Amino acid sequence: MHLQSLGAALTVTGSAHLLETRGGPVLIDCGMFQGGDELEARNREPFPFDPADLQAVLLTHAHLDHIGRLPLLVRQGFRGPVYCTPPTAALAETVLLDSARLQVEGYRQDLRRARRTGREDEVPGPLYDEEDVHRTLALLRPAFEFGETLKVGRLRVTPGRAGHILGSAYLLLEDGDARVILSGDLGNRESGLQLDFAPPPHADAVVTESTYADHRHRSLQGTLAELRDTLRQSVRAGGKILIPSFAIERTQFILSELRNLMEAGEVPRIPVFLDSPMASRATHAYFEFGDELIPPVREALQRGDDPFRPSTLHTVLTGEESQRLNRYDGPAIILAGNGMMTGGRIQHHLKHHLWKPSTSLIIVSYQSPSSLGGRLIAGADTVRIMGEEIAVRAQIHTIGGFSAHADQDDLLAFLDAAGQPRVWLVHGEPEVMEAFLPVLEARGLSANLVPDRGRVDLLTTAFPGGRPPGIPGSDGRVRRPEE
Ligand SMILES: [Zn+2]
Repeated sequence: MHLQSLGAALTVTGSAHLLETRGGPVLIDCGMFQGGDELEARNREPFPFDPADLQAVLLTHAHLDHIGRLPLLVRQGFRGPVYCTPPTAALAETVLLDSARLQVEGYRQDLRRARRTGREDEVPGPLYDEEDVHRTLALLRPAFEFGETLKVGRLRVTPGRAGHILGSAYLLLEDGDARVILSGDLGNRESGLQLDFAPPPHADAVVTESTYADHRHRSLQGTLAELRDTLRQSVRAGGKILIPSFAIERTQFILSELRNLMEAGEVPRIPVFLDSPMASRATHAYFEFGDELIPPVREALQRGDDPFRPSTLHTVLTGEESQRLNRYDGPAIILAGNGMMTGGRIQHHLKHHLWKPSTSLIIVSYQSPSSLGGRLIAGADTVRIMGEEIAVRAQIHTIGGFSAHADQDDLLAFLDAAGQPRVWLVHGEPEVMEAFLPVLEARGLSANLVPDRGRVDLLTTAFPGGRPPGIPGSDGRVRRPEE
């Protein structure tokens, strides 16, 4: 089976893998590149195939870096089925509509700026708009059920639980006698909401993500204790507690943990404002597919409780309500997006509160060094937010232990269950993957990095030292995905 990676090869973003099968080409994921201009320019590269020739698209999960270029594919002529799990289909609607809105807003903003310099002709149009998204959503076939085989032409596809976010799957793909697994993103086995990934069946080759392949996560218990202590300290400081959070999974997890801590009397019951319409919409999917979640959460839902609702929760919907929060007196927790503080409602909360010593900013997810969040972690004295220079006097707390990705032990457990497969690494930084190669070799596994855009035979190709020719030199920087 031949694979060509058109994203997430030697990087952690833009997942898209073209698999040639006897019945025709199939695309696994079609994600957006995120994280800086250079990577994002790749979203505008033409696909190196005719989208109309694809037999089908198979989705592993609904994160934007796995589905964000789907509407582009449809814009360029793809009309086939897009197979996924039912929760992935539900979340994909929220994620893609939000992405189209950001695309169109970004385009309008660029156009306004360009007009002032007479260069409006140079502004590229939005990648896609809401209409493209609706045409894409009409192609979704939520037919994947964990453990059940679906025929896609001559290819047999069996999704397994990946435990990364709601609805996430890895895929066993069988073409004739060949058996290959694509991992998608694999979950941290201590994630707090998701069940563990299901052990995969034996396979000839596994194409696996490797985001944290050089790393061991801190225990969930230790991280939760840190969150509790940080919240107590922040409540004592008396000001606003800002928690920037990604709309899918991290927000629901933090809400459920706030509820647990407040019900147990471990943290005072102060008001909690969820100021993210996208997160509110995504939470509906967690309700609808609650059977997928860990027992305490699932059982709470079965009892008719709302595990994502601390008793003091207020859901903020409109932009005006969000602005009104700036005049709200007294301590409160505000959860808002976006997760790296590069845009969204969190920005005006930061502008209004970051300069006050009583404010606490609690960072619960990865921040790229170039983002506003990254600069705050690095200790900036002032930051520019919405055109204003703001002094940083708030207490800044970083809780680094939450991760929705497998660490090295998780990845090894997954690969052990797959037998003695040939291992292909994707969705990682080159230096992380290279650190993982000898660990795999020590277990007797043949392991290689998947080249960027190059075509490999998953069952026979190998590179000396596992390293494909022409990979760019390591710059020592380690970038992680958003969550
Ligand atoms: Zn993901």
